[in-house]
Amino acid sequence: MIKRTLQEIAQMAGGTVSDAYKTTEVAGVAIDSRKITEGVLFIPFKGEQTDGHRFVSQAIADGAAASFWQEDVPGAPADLPLVMVDDCLQALQRLSRAYLKEVKPKVIGITGSNGKTTTKDIVSAVLSPVFKVKKTLGNYNNEIGLPLTICQLDDDTEISILEMGMSGFGEISLLSTLAEPDVAVITNIGESHMRDLGSRAGIARAKFEITDGLSGLFIYDGDEPLLAPLAETYKGERAALGLNEDNPYRITDIHMTDGAIQFKVTPSDTVLTLPMLGIHNARNAAIAILIGRRFGLTDEAINMHLQQLEMTGMRMEQLAGPNGSLLINDAYNASPTSMKAAIDTVNGMTGDKYIVLSDVLELGPDEEQYHREVGKYFDGRQMTVITTGRAAEHIHDEAKKLTTAYHFDDKGAVAEFLRPRLTADTVVLFKASRGMALETIIENISN
Ligand code: ATP
Ligand code: MG
Repeated sequence: MIKRTLQEIAQMAGGTVSDAYKTTEVAGVAIDSRKITEGVLFIPFKGEQTDGHRFVSQAIADGAAASFWQEDVPGAPADLPLVMVDDCLQALQRLSRAYLKEVKPKVIGITGSNGKTTTKDIVSAVLSPVFKVKKTLGNYNNEIGLPLTICQLDDDTEISILEMGMSGFGEISLLSTLAEPDVAVITNIGESHMRDLGSRAGIARAKFEITDGLSGLFIYDGDEPLLAPLAETYKGERAALGLNEDNPYRITDIHMTDGAIQFKVTPSDTVLTLPMLGIHNARNAAIAILIGRRFGLTDEAINMHLQQLEMTGMRMEQLAGPNGSLLINDAYNASPTSMKAAIDTVNGMTGDKYIVLSDVLELGPDEEQYHREVGKYFDGRQMTVITTGRAAEHIHDEAKKLTTAYHFDDKGAVAEFLRPRLTADTVVLFKASRGMALETIIENISN
């Protein structure tokens, strides 16, 4: 965690500090005045609702060692340890950039429509037993979260794994040029943020901005045709990875076992066992395997490290349900692509199979079509499809032509329907956008 004098901080952030406070020390940064810990530097942002500068005195009273203060905000108290800056966000970004240059870890940047957090967690599991690794906490992946994550690095951190999220053009470019990754990853191209970026091609271009600050290895989804022509414009080393035959790095020999998936990644012949479900997670893990190899690990070592994986909640989380049933909580979030991946996962399992789906939000004007496509995806995939939600009714309309399907007006009715059907042979997967909070059905039937 960053520990510097205010004079050093001012220099790194491009601000000024009065003589009286030049030797004051800070350790860490905080942006939420309600969560101040001893000795941190408070960063007040001017939000739409309220201005963080109103809480500067309180933050310092609560233990913050100092605070930024944006010059255009009147009334800076002269008797407090303040670093005066032109713009709090830009100053934080400059501070983090300078700090990163001092710590000098190898940086791994991960973007993509789906699987960023999962891939970050797997990469961390692979590298942590050998290196001092720090990864983005939770979902801190934007223009504020990424600099905060960097400021949390320790002076001896060797590898920093940074998730990079976006909702429009230019955002990933900013994050990439700030962090200057040594390895950059695009997990896949989906449909989220279609509303802002216009098309999947637009999404691909926005993600590809991750190469703007890259000098090193670019790993990307080789099964995505939109990425190949973009990747060719990156002059450094690149690795196309996927299931298709023509990829230089291929995932082969895939086997589903109970609660795990086994596969190989070319050119090695080692069987890797990932204690997670879903082909999409094999893809995420394969990225981690290429990165592990890049850092000098053998596939045998990587495989051992994979067994210690701790996943962040609600992503294919396996739970013991009533009567010995298996409930899979994948309700953290959803896109049409990740819903299809979830359908494949259930399809590959044995037993009495159910999938509970609800709305995918923020899809823009083509919302109905996307939901219909998810419904059509049940062609040749047999399971009971349960839907609830306004948009998910379109999934139902298509799915009922192909397999057993039920639609319910509310989540309570889904729970009532499922409860008597749960046996030791039953598996139920739950998936929808975060806003639908489908995990409440799991809580309901588990009580
Ligand atoms: P966010 O944008 O919310 O940060 P993320 O990119 O970090 O999302 P994860 O949190 O890892 O993604 O996973 C979100 C969902 O996407 C999960 O429910 C998972 O089932 C699905 N998913 C994960 N990896 C892939 C993949 N490679 N392809 C398709 N779907 C995936
Ligand atoms: Mg994430």
